[in-house]
Amino acid sequence: MNEGMVFGPVPSRRLGMSLGVNNVFPKYCSYSCIYCQVGRTDHLEIKRRSFYDPRKLAEEVIKAYRERVPDVVTFVPSGEPTLDVNLGLEARLIKDSGSPTLAILTNSSLLFMDDIKDEVSLFDIVSVKIDTVSYETWRKMNRPHPKLDLNEILDSIVTFSKVFKGRLISETMLVSGINDNEEEYRDIARFLKSLKNLFKSYILVPVRPPAESWVRPPGEERILKAYSIFLSELEEEKVELLVAPEPPTFRFREDLQKEVIKTVYVHPLRISYIVRLAEKRGKDPQKVLSDLIRSGEVKLVEYAGEKFLVPRIRK
Ligand code: SF4
Repeated sequence: MNEGMVFGPVPSRRLGMSLGVNNVFPKYCSYSCIYCQVGRTDHLEIKRRSFYDPRKLAEEVIKAYRERVPDVVTFVPSGEPTLDVNLGLEARLIKDSGSPTLAILTNSSLLFMDDIKDEVSLFDIVSVKIDTVSYETWRKMNRPHPKLDLNEILDSIVTFSKVFKGRLISETMLVSGINDNEEEYRDIARFLKSLKNLFKSYILVPVRPPAESWVRPPGEERILKAYSIFLSELEEEKVELLVAPEPPTFRFREDLQKEVIKTVYVHPLRISYIVRLAEKRGKDPQKVLSDLIRSGEVKLVEYAGEKFLVPRIRK
């Protein structure tokens, strides 16, 4: 089983070239979102634990950062990064090594815990997930741990926004038939407006194979409706639509197969990207693909007319 702690850099639609840190593996998460690109959650958890030796993880990140010079180092694991009890120590060790820009993508469900709030504050960029402010939709879409409470989570995001000194961004995923109606859009946008110093609100749609195969993005008209409602509540420069996949500019430096596998555990890859990567390295794409499948670590799935590599352990 793959245990790569660092992968990429991969092009992030929000952050530029991002060196990924997979500090939670396998998939431990407090949510099991229907659209999750890592698949269904194996371990639905809210209790923090240790996943790796924090010094070893920081060492690996610092080494990769110096070699690969990404725009940003992002904690974006197979699950929820704040479940890692060593998160604060890891962030401090990495920052002390020469201050790379540090980002974290959290579902924000555990921000009500004071230790987590303090540790997340160490990051330069924090992305919080706000797919809905409706209890019913939250249960359907994010399928949270039964002990979580949506109101407590929303309150904790507001509190965090008042004390956080870095760049706060939000992500809202739209799923057809679940949260793509005007009432939801308006309620989410009003909540976002209540945050202090929100730098940008991103509206996303599923572009990679989701945990549930029936999940679809809303039609163009509904996506644009969300955009216009968000604009009516927030300032124009604060709303951005991210509905297209990233450009194929992965910068893999190590062994191609190893790097692809490490990336796929967090970030399913289009077959067309892998073919291009193999060609760039002067390798036979068909051989690269069949070696990857033969490794037993990844498998092929189809979503929205495109083929992707995803982890074999994915449910
Ligand atoms: S999308 Fe994020 S929060 Fe949702 S299940 Fe996947 S890892 Fe967890």
